[in-house]
Amino acid sequence: MKVTEHLKKHTGKTQFSFEIIPPKKGNNIQDLYDNIDPLMEFNPPFIDVTTSREEHIYIDKGNGLLDRKITRMRPGTVGICAAIKHKYNVDTIPHVLCGGFTKEETEYLLVDCHYLGIENVMALRGDAMSHQRYFEASNGGHQYATQLVDQIKNLNNGKYLHDVIEANHKANFCIGVAGYPEKHLESPSLQTDLKRLKEKVDAGADYVVTQMFFDNQKYFEFVDAAKEIGINVPILPGIKPLAVQKHLQLLPQVFKIDLPEPLIIEVEKCKTNKEVRQVGVEWAIEQSKELMAAGVPVLHYYSMGKSTNIKAIAKAVF
Ligand code: FAD
Repeated sequence: MKVTEHLKKHTGKTQFSFEIIPPKKGNNIQDLYDNIDPLMEFNPPFIDVTTSREEHIYIDKGNGLLDRKITRMRPGTVGICAAIKHKYNVDTIPHVLCGGFTKEETEYLLVDCHYLGIENVMALRGDAMSHQRYFEASNGGHQYATQLVDQIKNLNNGKYLHDVIEANHKANFCIGVAGYPEKHLESPSLQTDLKRLKEKVDAGADYVVTQMFFDNQKYFEFVDAAKEIGINVPILPGIKPLAVQKHLQLLPQVFKIDLPEPLIIEVEKCKTNKEVRQVGVEWAIEQSKELMAAGVPVLHYYSMGKSTNIKAIAKAVF
């Protein structure tokens, strides 16, 4: 079922959903299941599975030199989506990236999703590779998520790349895109970033999932500002519980988001990461309760592959 259909079916009731990361290659899918199992009692209508682009790795050649290789460390998003859908009978949403993929590769991936009965995809640009200062499109790939939305929408209309086939069976993907309550880090202003978000919605995105935020006011203002410029699709809040002391520096640095002063003060009092984890869970519970009271359709949690803290939050909220 499409995300938009799930939302309509449960109007007035906030639902629980979460995002997982594929395991590093060489690991067992059972590890993933072990983290999904405890969350299924909260009846997620859908589960997102992230995609990681290729990265540089350095192999020690043993003679003091390093060999640089490019590899994808966490492949398998579509396969994992199919496996989870089959095992738990739940809708799964593969994240589809511009970065690291040609348009042809994206088309093949979407065709696979269609064959597997996957009806939702999240269209994202992805980030620059670690050695790049700015994001660069792959040769033959897209520069912005809007172009990816265009490609998916074309497929929904039976239009494949290069017009080489006549499609008598159309795809029908529901398309999610990313939104940034504190603006995307590269954007010159929140207003400009909102205009870009509107372009994604005008191109055919059906819903938005936000970047993590720790101050609900930022989300509420973002939703209001989005509505003001004519973005009328659901905007689902993304929640990430703070888990380690290092997040105090890391999250603002990597995502250019602000952390509220009371949260910082509580984390700074902690002597161990176990205590930080507890502070993060309690903060996320309060955030979730307020968002739920405001009537958000879904609370979407970034699990980062570990379910214990997400389960503690869900137990207190749902
Ligand atoms: P875009 O919408 O393309 O925007 C990127 C930047 O370009 C923004 O600053 C925007 O304002 C600007 N822009 C857009 N269009 C134009 C234009 N026409 N001209 C000039 N500027 C423009 N990353 C992963 O690698 N894998 C994942 O699975 C993943 N999942 C995510 C899930 C969510 C919910 C979120 C919020 C992010 C996720 N990301 C993921 C991170 C995401 O890929 C990065 O934040 C990336 O830097 C931007 O992606 P985007 O789709 O928002 O890009």
